[in-house]
Amino acid sequence: MTATILNGRELANEIQNEIRAELSNFIEQHGITPTAAVVRAGDDPASVSYARSLERSFSKLGVGFQLHTLPESATQDEIVATVARLNGDLAVHGIMIQEPLPKGIDEAAVKGALSPDKDVDGVHPLNTGRLAQAAPTGRPAGVEPFFIPATPAGGLEILRRYAIELQGKLAVVVGRSTIVGKPMALLLLRENATVIMCHSRTQGLPDVCRTADILCGAVGRARMIKGDWIKPGATVIDFGINFVDSQMCGDVDFEQAVEVAGMITPVPGGTGPMTSVMLMKNVLQAVRRQVG
Ligand code: NDP
Repeated sequence: MTATILNGRELANEIQNEIRAELSNFIEQHGITPTAAVVRAGDDPASVSYARSLERSFSKLGVGFQLHTLPESATQDEIVATVARLNGDLAVHGIMIQEPLPKGIDEAAVKGALSPDKDVDGVHPLNTGRLAQAAPTGRPAGVEPFFIPATPAGGLEILRRYAIELQGKLAVVVGRSTIVGKPMALLLLRENATVIMCHSRTQGLPDVCRTADILCGAVGRARMIKGDWIKPGATVIDFGINFVDSQMCGDVDFEQAVEVAGMITPVPGGTGPMTSVMLMKNVLQAVRRQVG
């Protein structure tokens, strides 16, 4: 079997066109340019390069972008003060805090300082709590999530746009970080999948993965998930971004997996390109709420 490729790059382009249209309508109607601000500190090269790539993709579509870079020596109070200033800035509609922050900074405290209404990365406890309390799709609305973290939102959007049935399916998510694994599991649960979350202490991980109709990798270990961990015909969503000999690869061994899976996201070109477009969608959602 050769799996169908879930082409995140193509979908991201499609969504960019939708955003472009929505953005120009919004600007025409309100005379406001939706604007996001990134707060980062220090010189971590991956973080610098991620901020640049966000700036490029936001600017390309005409979404406002501000980068607030503090030195590696910045104190927690200084970072929180920057966040507080942006919370109060009416020209900024979405704020993202880029990790890693310098050593010694309490990342949870910085995230907690965000205005939940501008938390377009969905990392404030109120947003994560609301996602955890959201009613399953199809049930009368309970607590609505404010913002869903962009990477898992992108993974779910791929599943939706390829019309992959989730209801009643068994989904296994490997990885339980607050930014990828855990929210992805909650999103799948909300879509009425039966969800198993795995992590570094899970016993018999290959056997658990083999039960999955939908298998998501959010581990950060190059090609860890092997072809024989995959149930024939399963859908595989690979969030991993790893580098081996300067080449990007996912958490799933793609060459093996593509022979077994029914559908699979490649790396690069799968979940990665979806993240920045889902962030932009969150910025649009934020500005709409803020202008009422
Ligand atoms: P974290 O390091 O925060 O979390 C990794 C998770 O994997 C943890 O829950 C950890 O378990 C689990 N894990 C680690 N080793 C194993 C193992 N041997 N077996 C089973 N589980 C294991 O990573 P992130 O969630 O931030 O990122 C995950 C991946 O997604 C990375 O490759 C990252 O680069 C990528 N990423 C991709 C994005 C995109 O746009 N596609 C955006 C953000 C991240 P435990 O909790 O027990 O420690």
